[in-house]
Amino acid sequence: MEHVLVTGGAGYIGAHACKALKAAGYVPVAFDNLSTGWRDAVKFGPLHEGNLLDRASLDAAFAAYKPVAVMHFAALSLVGESMKDPGKYWRENVTGAANLADAAVAAGCLDFVFSSTCATYGDQDGVVLDEDTAQLPINAYGSSKLAIEQLLADFEAAHGLRSVIFRYFNVAGSDPEAEVGEQHVPETHLIPLMLDAIAGKRDALTIYGTDYNTPDGTCVRDYVHVSDLVDAHVKGLKWLKDGKASRVFCLGSGDGFSVREVVEASRAVTNRPVPVVEGGRRAGDAAVLVSGSRRAVEELGWEPKRSDISTMIADAWRWHQSEPYER
Ligand code: UDP
Repeated sequence: MEHVLVTGGAGYIGAHACKALKAAGYVPVAFDNLSTGWRDAVKFGPLHEGNLLDRASLDAAFAAYKPVAVMHFAALSLVGESMKDPGKYWRENVTGAANLADAAVAAGCLDFVFSSTCATYGDQDGVVLDEDTAQLPINAYGSSKLAIEQLLADFEAAHGLRSVIFRYFNVAGSDPEAEVGEQHVPETHLIPLMLDAIAGKRDALTIYGTDYNTPDGTCVRDYVHVSDLVDAHVKGLKWLKDGKASRVFCLGSGDGFSVREVVEASRAVTNRPVPVVEGGRRAGDAAVLVSGSRRAVEELGWEPKRSDISTMIADAWRWHQSEPYER
């Protein structure tokens, strides 16, 4: 059976990708340093503990499994942290990706699926973002992901490394079968924090900013279900295996929801009150990030099935009520 090296395979999106790859007939090899990932989340193939900053551990993984492709999820991804410590983001994300791409080329593994982000667009008032929109990041997380996109273009020119790049909007929800799910320490994301507040596991949710130029003053985001997102990755892998050219795809639902709307949807899905307090803005946050995902639908045949806000929250809530991972 063919192996795929999944960096960050013990993390939230990576673990869901491993499940989808297994279902598609591949053996997913989770390459992870477990700094933010979970050993318990590696359920669908082997775990190779390694670090992107340690080239030898990458070479060992390529030699051991001879993967036919790489899916690169491993990254630091907290906007707020990236604003406080940009060096960490450039080192771990950009240098890590350079090491990975070098190791892939050295091993002759030239198909690369990369997890990028709508944070590369920055804050473009009133624009529905698509693949052709200019990339103008406003935080170091977005800058580091943009640099990796550029790095991949350079590697294609120099070494023939072909890539499918996905720019994600806000990934949410969990595996409907709750085999894997969203769990971060520390948790910073809106929906899991809100479910914690609803379940009484933490104090009220703080709404970060109510004075944005949006209909209700809170930030608007485009939420996409993690299971839909990883289905697109399997299609992206097939795209490369079919010999098609490197391509960028945005992945969102095309619908924007404000923080207040997500709060209201969570109240409706869980049928419980949501304790909320209003706070100031969080550094680095754009007012509105909404995608057009027509290219993924038309060219990849992507069909988001669970990306309506109620289904995402219901799936997240089911996982939230199951046993959490232990390290
Ligand atoms: N948000 C919030 N309170 C929180 C966490 C997030 O109001 O405790 C807001 C945040 O400002 C953003 C949206 O919820 O507008 C989604 O944030 P998240 O951190 O989940 O994802 P991001 O957009 O940073 O990728």
